[in-house]
Amino acid sequence: MHSYQPSEILIERGEENTPVVQRVLSRLPSVPVRLVETGWERTQQEAPERDAFGAAKRRLLFTRQRSPFLEHCPAGTSGLVCCNYLVVSLISNCSMDCSYCFLQEYLANNPILKVFTNADTLLSEVASVVDRHPERQFRIGTGELSDSLALDPLLGFSAELVPFFAARPNVLLELKTKSDSVSGLLALDPKDRVVVSWSMTPPEIIDSEEHGTASFAERLAAARQVQAAGYKLGFHFDPLVEYPNWEEGYRETIAQIFATIDARRVAWVSVGSLRMTPALRMAVRRRFPGTRILSGEQVACGDGKWRTFQALRVKMYRAITGWLKEAAPTAPMYMCMETAAVWNKVFGHVPKSDKEVARTLTQPNLVRV
Ligand code: SF4
Repeated sequence: MHSYQPSEILIERGEENTPVVQRVLSRLPSVPVRLVETGWERTQQEAPERDAFGAAKRRLLFTRQRSPFLEHCPAGTSGLVCCNYLVVSLISNCSMDCSYCFLQEYLANNPILKVFTNADTLLSEVASVVDRHPERQFRIGTGELSDSLALDPLLGFSAELVPFFAARPNVLLELKTKSDSVSGLLALDPKDRVVVSWSMTPPEIIDSEEHGTASFAERLAAARQVQAAGYKLGFHFDPLVEYPNWEEGYRETIAQIFATIDARRVAWVSVGSLRMTPALRMAVRRRFPGTRILSGEQVACGDGKWRTFQALRVKMYRAITGWLKEAAPTAPMYMCMETAAVWNKVFGHVPKSDKEVARTLTQPNLVRV
């Protein structure tokens, strides 16, 4: 278990007695606590530290979310095939520190690790959408602006989310993680409505690029535990990292995963290329000068992001999806943030619409790519 110890807890005035704040104060009795006014973080000058982004991860702010929680996944950029995914964020920023993490750019102006205190508002928003459309199937994830589970032993949000989603037949909740923080899930009954998914890279990439995350062996052990507790599993090979030994590394990683867990209980598997805006590349270079992720051959694409050049990308996708299909023939598979041309080269088929991809993932027996 990877425990997070903030240097300071900041609580927006008026939120002191919310359930999550009370839980955290009782679990971290020796961390200094300060009450702050609404919007306090926007008035802060970045400390003149060498790594202000890294330092901001160690300050934990509790505040109320005043904007809507429920949003479309921002990966649904025009020109790319989209899987119609919805996101809700109870946390902004992450206690772990992967070298390629897009939050280094996305939250550059507001990097403090922020936890929203009004989970009840999030649940009412979701209920008002999914309960009004019983004919539709939804997929909702919490892992967009943070890791879904890394802070769960501290925050305890899974105890509020899992029973809510378990009670609804037309929505799947995805908890996406690189941690092994699953203890809060094991006593809950997900009723087949919750998918716990792991981002996976070969162990040598986890060790060199995914700082503070659980090791490959720890992720696998956690996956086995949640599967035994009734959860469906997901795996994301995203970002795919090209390095000299990538073929051997990915083949062995896939073999070990599916030798450990039951492939028939896998809700979905995705693959996605390493993609970075120019600003993110600069942040990565500055914060992780020894990284190997910028050493591969990357090119600028139509959406402004740099990716592994297409021929190598397609070669990696074909190899990895081939090993995945052998190991988990019933698991639906999709690509994240890719063009129709690349879908065609990899799967020999382009989904007719976003709805087709979404239907494949919510009712996997209907359509399979
Ligand atoms: S686990 Fe995810 S959110 Fe956290 S640092 Fe890594 S990529 Fe970013």
